[in-house]
Amino acid sequence: MSTVAGTGGWDHTVDLLVVGSGAGAMTAAIIAGDRGASALLIEKSDRYGGNSAMSGGGLWVPTNHLLGTVGVKDSREEAWAYLTATTAGAVPEDRLRAYLETAPELVKYLMERSRARFVALPLYADYYPNAPGAKQGGRSIEPENFDARLLGDEFPRMRDQNPQMLIMGRVFMTVFEARTLLCRERGWIRLTMKLLGRYWLDIPWRFKSRRDRNLAMGNALVGMLRRSLMDRDVPVWLNTAARELVVEDGRVVGVVAEREGRRIRIRANRGVILAAGGFESSQAMREKYLPQPTRAEWSCGNKHNTGDAINLGLSVGAALDLMDDAWWGPTTVVPGEPHARMLVIEKSLPGSILVDQRGRRFVNESAPYIDVVNAMYRSHTPEAPCVPAYLVFDATFRRKYPCGPVLQASQQPDWALPKALRDYFKKADTLEELAAKAGVDPAGLRATVARVNEYARSGVDPDFHRGETAFDRYYGDEKVKPNPCLAPIEKPPFYALEAYPGELGTRGGLRTDARAHVLDGAGQPIPGLYAVGNCSASVMGHSYPGAGATIGPAMTFGFIAARDAVPG
Ligand SMILES: Cc1cc2nc3c(=O)[nH]c(=O)nc-3n(C[C@H](O)[C@H](O)[C@H](O)COP(=O)(O)OP(=O)(O)OC[C@H]3O[C@@H](n4cnc5c(N)ncnc54)[C@H](O)[C@@H]3O)c2cc1C
Repeated sequence: MSTVAGTGGWDHTVDLLVVGSGAGAMTAAIIAGDRGASALLIEKSDRYGGNSAMSGGGLWVPTNHLLGTVGVKDSREEAWAYLTATTAGAVPEDRLRAYLETAPELVKYLMERSRARFVALPLYADYYPNAPGAKQGGRSIEPENFDARLLGDEFPRMRDQNPQMLIMGRVFMTVFEARTLLCRERGWIRLTMKLLGRYWLDIPWRFKSRRDRNLAMGNALVGMLRRSLMDRDVPVWLNTAARELVVEDGRVVGVVAEREGRRIRIRANRGVILAAGGFESSQAMREKYLPQPTRAEWSCGNKHNTGDAINLGLSVGAALDLMDDAWWGPTTVVPGEPHARMLVIEKSLPGSILVDQRGRRFVNESAPYIDVVNAMYRSHTPEAPCVPAYLVFDATFRRKYPCGPVLQASQQPDWALPKALRDYFKKADTLEELAAKAGVDPAGLRATVARVNEYARSGVDPDFHRGETAFDRYYGDEKVKPNPCLAPIEKPPFYALEAYPGELGTRGGLRTDARAHVLDGAGQPIPGLYAVGNCSASVMGHSYPGAGATIGPAMTFGFIAARDAVPG
């Protein structure tokens, strides 16, 4: 990445140029459109939407106006107490305030002025429900279903949902429905039939596409935003990668891009917003910045997020922050799938544990997923390797719950697994044999399981306090007593699945101020340059306060950046 001086010769001129096409990028362009400015999004790959389209589509928005609909009371003071407690001094206060003030305004704005529609998730607790100001639900919101027909020819150009968010890799469910299905809450069978029926009985559409048109989660969010851009005639250029920033008299005035193999110069009169995602798919940057060991294959994120925007910012003197951090979670690498899947629910349900290669637990498995990977790295030493760790469970767990791409054995027994998944689990009739197959210390594993089985009976985990918080229990099984996150591991065969320190994307990047301006090494804004989403250092610091804490800020700072560049 380099910069070029602005010597004219522009191929295209707009008011606001947005690099990337995730939720933050699209939000910024919607606002520019509403303010009468011309905007253009450029996207490196042949599909728009990035990680945002692959995601759960949730936004974490304290004091959002939907809280009342689910009977939750929230206040700016409580939100402030919670966010300052969880971010623990890592983020300047004016950025935190900008987030808390603007995020609820953004949600209301989009619901009133665009195609975006959200609902609050009443039971999705903040990730640290015992911290001051935490709420047991309601701050996380998700998009309503969105009909893909409204996108016309633009639908096939949207990046697919990560298959882990779909039933049998193809049928959409909302975040709310996912919990009912995966934790086998009351009504889960009826709901499964309803969603599968809706998919298969959608006859005319079935002749057109394998993709479900009742979009949910990230596809619904990006669909709503893309349709809102269509309403405003804002173009999205695919196969167009930003390669250089153009600087004139110290101000970023445009971008040199590669479009369908041709270099073009795009001028941006009011500013350039970098929204091109993190560096999860650059092995070189992972090795340079993240804790080791690390592999791009362990990421659930978009293959095209290779840190381009971070390098563009560096080329004009930008400062970086939080580069050693990511939206961590333990992941499983599934043969034949392009992205890893995160073990969010599997690790929390009763009857599975995570162990290191000595066979010892190292964390509360039901804790927020970033905490699990932070513990994995903390515990990983040459004497006690923890990468990979193993998710260990028994036949009862296997029968009741899905795990990675595999449905519960009551619906997909081992003999019915496709060839590619036959060796996906390590499996044995005794714990000792299982340990030998996985390269785990047999005595260690036996002792750990014996202890966990006692905890399952008492309902108390004195080692790691699993199941003690509302967040732990969100992905528990309420029918399992006395602790919905603990069940004995005792019925053969026993299973082990490798778990890696993966993520949903990285979170370190260009340092920005409360208006999303990119800052230089002296803390001064670089004129004409903004950054939002995972190419900017997160406003959440090293914390993950609740579901939606990455997309909420990406969109909110997209909103802030566009309003700054195009004042009303
Ligand atoms: C399975 C999964 C579930 C998730 N669930 C949630 C959730 O529910 N809530 C939440 O908050 N977060 C969630 N996340 C994380 C979230 O999706 C990301 O943190 C967020 O979408 C990042 O947004 P972004 O705009 O920074 O990047 P992206 O949405 O990834 O967009 C970046 C885009 O920029 C493009 N690009 C890259 N380089 C260039 C270039 N040089 N020129 C032009 N374009 C370029 C990329 O191709 C990409 O399309 C999830 C992630 C995954 C994978």
